[in-house]
Amino acid sequence: MAEEETPMLDNVPGRNRVSIYQPEQEGLVFPEIPSFATHAEERDYRKKHLVAATRAFGMHGFDYGFAGHLTVRDPEHPELYWTNPMCVHFSQVKMSNLILADHEGRVVEGRYAINRAGFVLHAAVHEEYPEVMAMCHAHTTYGTAWCATGRKLDMISQDAAAFYNDHAVIGASAGAVAVERESGWSVAKEMGRNRGILHQSHGLLTSSRHSIDDAAFWFIALERACQQQLMVEATGIKPQLLSDKTAAYSREHVGSDFIGWLHFQTLYDHIAATQPDMFD
Ligand SMILES: [Zn+2]
Repeated sequence: MAEEETPMLDNVPGRNRVSIYQPEQEGLVFPEIPSFATHAEERDYRKKHLVAATRAFGMHGFDYGFAGHLTVRDPEHPELYWTNPMCVHFSQVKMSNLILADHEGRVVEGRYAINRAGFVLHAAVHEEYPEVMAMCHAHTTYGTAWCATGRKLDMISQDAAAFYNDHAVIGASAGAVAVERESGWSVAKEMGRNRGILHQSHGLLTSSRHSIDDAAFWFIALERACQQQLMVEATGIKPQLLSDKTAAYSREHVGSDFIGWLHFQTLYDHIAATQPDMFD
């Protein structure tokens, strides 16, 4: 697939066709890019998708005690962001226990405490890059293991190519608990410029200019890419790498922000159907 020609996308108003994956045939079931009449509608959508993203992290075993945080900006007050509550398991996050926080780490809506390390890192990025919509961070097994190498990922697959020229290794503040503001600022610059961050001696981070869906899916993909690279390296066999041309093609067509959002709709629908308490 990576070498096929890109068909022209149509520009029919209302079709909103931005990807070769969107069906040209009318009337088929396929996720629709949402549009909103009010801030309240959009807030409700973002909160539901933040809850589902957090639960997806639970399903993937990304929990480590209270570590890990996901954030998405409020549509009406972009200087505020919604995040998961401190000391609540990813799988038990729901609409009613989300918190809304400002860049000083003050909870302005919700009853639960905020994860201090979360607000330091996320607030620094959200403040430095107003266009960053959402971020994810967790202390995952394979991601943290790969981060110990201090190396970027090799382009061993089409999936890894989602991070082609779009991830960075950060050594600054590595290993120190990121609770001080200076620590957050020192890594914010690289984090906002890249889809994925391998924070040495710490773990993975992703950010998105598109949606929490996009940030969450590519976080899952980044953890998987780290696992697969560790598996390949454990064999001792030198992997065949994608060419730069193929990696760039894959990044554009199967690694776009829309594709991240689209992948996540599969998870959202599954979680919404099987865990209806997410809406409580
Ligand atoms: Zn952390």
